Amino acid sequence: MPDNRSQFDGARVLADLNTLRSIGAYKTGVHKPTFSEPHMRSLEWLARRLPEAGLSAAIDGIGNLLGTSTKAGPKLLAGSHLESQNFAGWLDGPLGVVYALEAARVINPDPNVNGAVEVAAWCDEEGHFGSFLGSRSYVGDVTEADIDAARDSSGRTMRQALSDVGLAGRARAKAERGRHIGYLEAHIEQGLALESSGLKIGVVTSIVGIWQYRITFSGEQNHAGTTRMADRRDAGLALVRFGVAIDDRLPALCSPRTVWTTGRITLDPGAPSIIPGRAEMLFQMRDDDPAVIARLEDLLQSMAAEVNAQGPCSVAIERIRTGAPAMMSAGFQQAIEAASLDFASGRSVRMHSAAGHDAQILATIMPAGMMFVPSIGGISHHWSENTDDADIVTGAHVYVETCRRLLAG
Ligand SMILES: [Zn+2]
Repeated sequence: MPDNRSQFDGARVLADLNTLRSIGAYKTGVHKPTFSEPHMRSLEWLARRLPEAGLSAAIDGIGNLLGTSTKAGPKLLAGSHLESQNFAGWLDGPLGVVYALEAARVINPDPNVNGAVEVAAWCDEEGHFGSFLGSRSYVGDVTEADIDAARDSSGRTMRQALSDVGLAGRARAKAERGRHIGYLEAHIEQGLALESSGLKIGVVTSIVGIWQYRITFSGEQNHAGTTRMADRRDAGLALVRFGVAIDDRLPALCSPRTVWTTGRITLDPGAPSIIPGRAEMLFQMRDDDPAVIARLEDLLQSMAAEVNAQGPCSVAIERIRTGAPAMMSAGFQQAIEAASLDFASGRSVRMHSAAGHDAQILATIMPAGMMFVPSIGGISHHWSENTDDADIVTGAHVYVETCRRLLAG
């Protein structure tokens, strides 16, 4: 007798995503900061759906929602996140969660599949309180002191927020060694690569690491009128020259994937009639290869040495964040590609992820894989973020088939 529950249902995927969009709706997107009322209502909605997939749901002491199975056989962990950036899109996060839910609904009741898909919605992927606090807690990388220190941009502590939503004092779920064969996450691409080449599935090879630097210039603060140009030690001017030199010299040593950004410049004291005595820039580089970053960092240090030797200002470079690029499992990449042949006419491409995702955290303790679906116009972190319904359904079908292949080994 056919079992209706084990049929893939694209209309159900779209309906679920639209239900999540209606919770905390903002224009065509959503506004669901971590632990906001719409975020918690979204978690409760998911908790009510998980039993349909044979999973028991629990929200832990940091706001992670996990659906666990008692079915025998291998377990695949699958998910993404349900909170959003402020006034942002409807798919960043929920797409991966609903795909995981659909895979669990299709696969878990199927007696022909040995094993189960377990579903996770990781808390605070968007970093309202910290950096990947939910998934990092699950892999054992968040201490109680880290939670004590976490606060959002309004100054509200994470402790207070957890208490406000009734999660204070709950235990935090931790990964059980050996329980999962790996972690699979789907996400919108948030870029133009798929759409511009007419492809439907991005098979993620790696997730970039982020390295950050504080570059500080010291000169001499003085009068902007009476100090002759030849006598100046203008820290602001030295900074601007250095910024231009970075753009001139890094291309010779970077990889095709390297990107760099000066996100903030501060001049001290920062007044129109005072020559800055001090200037600071926050500089970031992203790549999936630490060796590339190492040689770029060497270049930055030799450029700084040149500045210090020539004067008239001095410069110091301090690394304030060290990246951890994550390689995605080769087996997971093959499974996504094979599933794309079945359900996306093979229109897939291997690509790296230039944005961070929970999969990079899970990859530190288990094999991990990610797949992307196209983003219309490459727009994300904005309420107009969108993906064609047909592409959402194609991606969901590929995702469910990938889960089936991974569980089959
Ligand atoms: Zn996301």
